[in-house]
Amino acid sequence: MKCHYFLKLLNRYVDGVLVDKEREEIELHLNHCPNCYKEYKQIVFLREILASKDKISVSEDFFKKVMSKISSAQTEVTYRWKQLDSLARKLIPVPVMIALALTFFIFRGYSPQITLDDYYLSMFSEEEVSILEGAFSAEELLGIKGGV
Ligand SMILES: [Zn+2]
Repeated sequence: MKCHYFLKLLNRYVDGVLVDKEREEIELHLNHCPNCYKEYKQIVFLREILASKDKISVSEDFFKKVMSKISSAQTEVTYRWKQLDSLARKLIPVPVMIALALTFFIFRGYSPQITLDDYYLSMFSEEEVSILEGAFSAEELLGIKGGV
């Protein structure tokens, strides 16, 4: 018979619940098939570990601590994402507005003395500007240096 048939019986064989005929068949097969014998030994090994008295123990409040850490980590991620999201919503239209302004002034053949710093200061609060300056230079982000 094929290994497939015996592998399906292995757990029940280890449990000692096979009928005599099945048990004799599987024992005969295990004596001749190294692969099935290896599977059999692994099942026995796992059963021994599971039955072992040296079970891993954790402190009583272990799960409480883990759940509280997960919860605070989620709160932190949500907060940071909200900060980034509100900044991104304000930042994305800036290049579009600059492009429109440039187009407008180019068509008029006129160059105003407006710097990017003026642009940013008018659009963001002081706190947001300091966050932006800390993270990166706005001019670098847009690939532009100096006045518009
Ligand atoms: Zn086999």
